[in-house]
Amino acid sequence: MDVYSQNPTGQAIMEKWVEGSVGPGWYPLIGKLIDELLCAGWDGQITQIKEKFGSLRAYIGYGSDEIYHIIDKYHALSVHTCEDCGKPGRNKTSPGGYWLHTLCASCRRKETIKRKRWMNERANRCC
Ligand SMILES: [Zn+2]
Repeated sequence: MDVYSQNPTGQAIMEKWVEGSVGPGWYPLIGKLIDELLCAGWDGQITQIKEKFGSLRAYIGYGSDEIYHIIDKYHALSVHTCEDCGKPGRNKTSPGGYWLHTLCASCRRKETIKRKRWMNERANRCC
């Protein structure tokens, strides 16, 4: 994984908690989130980092108001950042309408094509 946090503790957190939990477009965002949290005195305890309803969720053990304010700020930024590539994105329902995803126009097109291909393959299966 590339280095997204400036702090060795932050780098270890990125590798343990972030890789595979969310799309790579959010890695830089999470690196900054972790750095800001550590600067604010956060103890580095994480319960979970994940994507939910197309937004970044970071669950931590304990934090001050300032720490939760930082988490809220990055949650808000995530719904405007493509989860796949990191470009400006929009939080919208995916093709097919099943779940919310934050993607840029280009990544949303790719996802739409992928989904159509998958639907066609399913429809053409014989048994
Ligand atoms: Zn994108």
